[in-house]
Parts: sequence; structure tokens; C-alpha cells
Amino acid sequence: MPNYTPPSFLTDLLRARSPSGAEFEAQKVYDHYVKPAADAYAKDAMGNRIATLNPKGDPILMLAGHMDELGLILTFVNKDGFLYFDTIGGHDRVMIPGRRVVIQTARGTVKGVTGKRAIHLMDEADRKKVPEIHEMWIDIGARSKKEALERVAIGDTATYDHEFELIHGSVGTARAFDNKVGAYIVGETLVRLAASKRSLAARIVSVATSQEEIGVRGATTSAYSVAPHLAVAVDVGHATDHPDCDQRKYGETRLGGGPIICRGPNINPKVFDRLVKAARRIKLPVQFEADARPTGTDARALQMGRGGVATGLISVPLRYMHTPSEIVDLEDVEACVKLLVEFALDLKKGDYGHW
Ligand SMILES: [Zn+2]
Repeated sequence: MPNYTPPSFLTDLLRARSPSGAEFEAQKVYDHYVKPAADAYAKDAMGNRIATLNPKGDPILMLAGHMDELGLILTFVNKDGFLYFDTIGGHDRVMIPGRRVVIQTARGTVKGVTGKRAIHLMDEADRKKVPEIHEMWIDIGARSKKEALERVAIGDTATYDHEFELIHGSVGTARAFDNKVGAYIVGETLVRLAASKRSLAARIVSVATSQEEIGVRGATTSAYSVAPHLAVAVDVGHATDHPDCDQRKYGETRLGGGPIICRGPNINPKVFDRLVKAARRIKLPVQFEADARPTGTDARALQMGRGGVATGLISVPLRYMHTPSEIVDLEDVEACVKLLVEFALDLKKGDYGHW
């Protein structure tokens, strides 16, 4: 297995802590790598990052990848200095206890662990239960409420202290591939289009969106301000190739199988066709998923923007979604960039996805 070197733009994003509503570190990374390649670059009140290439182009293509991740938010400090929290995004409560966490505060980071009662101190019935959120806490080694509040404040956010690591070849694990890979893909697509020698008819607007995990909120407002003709959301999708995943229910997708292209009512049929044809032209393997409802991604907000936007969705196959140890094959990430570059370059003036 040859050594694989992951792109620094992606690894910097993976290192950035960006729970929904506190995406500061991810914004800085996006600014650093994408702004220099853009013709125009905007920040907005929702914390989105909006990079534009070829501003006079037609049609307007918006690419959206959310940069926020799951987190915890501090809600209460008890008299002994233990911190209580609520969850940001869809956590599996089984995964929360026993973790090292990093709290972002106004004065820098504070380390802690998520605590709960040890198994020896539980009765038979309690051992079978998943702890409620209020039955867990964060321990920062403080001895009193006063001492804790000198270091953290109510409303500070925390993320798991699980960093990116390659585990075999191009397969890596990280805390929030969901959806740093998407933010990377839309930003990197713009960077490569800016460097491409082929002529580009479309205006490309690559948005690193905020607050997807709590209801596609950044995509909702940025789709309004960008007012695109076409949009493609980039997110992660379940690789269903691991044990205990019923493919009769969840379809057939695998790690390393290439981008997952979605089809269903959330997806414009012309955009879907164009994505598939783009993949065929560059001989890129792709996989398919069908979703009978609005998807749980930014595509949901994009499609319903203003008078309706012709929307597509591509996903990076991922195992163990919303856990601190997600798994992705970075070759699938690179394939998504190649697919979007080809898709964008092929758009012609007046191509609006009407059907
Ligand atoms: Zn997610």
C-alpha cells in the first residue's frame, strides 16, 4: 500500500473545531485556502463563506458543503464545578461518555472528559440503560462552581478530542468527516476551476455553509442571497458495507466505491443526468442512492430557495456517521472534486435545469 498524503486544506479543516453556530476555526481555514482563488469572497451574518468565480457567468451554479459539526454546549455548572451540557446535532447518547473533549472559550481551549457513574456503582437495571443527557457531565478538574466559571462560560461549546488519522492507505478516521469533506470538496472545486485552462461559462459560487446539523440553516439563507439557477449539495452518505446494516432498508453503497449520486424528489432530473454523464466522460466510478423524501442535507434547503432551484446531491461514502470515529476513503473525496469540476465545466449558457 503506497503512502498516501492527504491534502493540507482537508486536514486543516478536520482539525478545525466548528460545532453549529461556532464555526470560527473552520471559517478561517476556508478563508485561507479558497479566498485567494475567488474573484469575490463574502462573509455573512450566519457565518457562511461565499466564494465566487467568474461573476459574469451564466448559469449560476451554487456548490454547498456544510462546515459545521456536532458538538456539546454548556448549560449549567453545579456547585462542585461539574459542567452540564446539551447536544448540538444528532448525537447517539451511547457514544458520549468516556470521551476527552475540548471546550472553546473566550480565553482559549479547556480540556475535559465526559463523565458518568462507573459500572461498579450501577444496579442491574441501570447497567442496561443508555444514560440520559442530564446523567452525564464534563469534568474539567475544577473544585467548585467559582473555579469552573473562571475557565468556562455558559454557552461555550465543546467537541470530542478525536483527531484525523490515516488507518490504512487512503482510508482515514476523524471526528467530523461529516462534513468537513463537503466543505473541502466545494472549496477545492473552485480552486481547481480557477486554475483550469478550459473555458468556464457558468458562475461558480462555492459556499461553506453553517448550521446544517441543526436544520440546514446556513444553506437556507445563502441560497437566498446567491439566487442560483443550479445547486449541488455535497455531504457524507452512509456506506452500507459494514456488518449489521440491512441493505434491503438502506441500499447498497460502499467505502471506496466513488461518489454517491442521489435521486428522488429532492433532486432535479436534469442535474442528476448531468452528474452521471460527467462521471462517465471522465470514467469515474459512481454509486447511487434513492431518497423518497427531502434529504437530510443542504439539498433540502437549496431546492426550496426562492422560486425553486434545480438541485443535485453527491455524497462521500462514510461509515459510523455522527460518532467520534467516522471512516472515509479519501480517494472518494478526490473523486467528488473531479466530478464537480467536470460537471461545472460542461454547463452551457442558459442551462437552468427546467423540465
Ligand atoms: Zn451530519
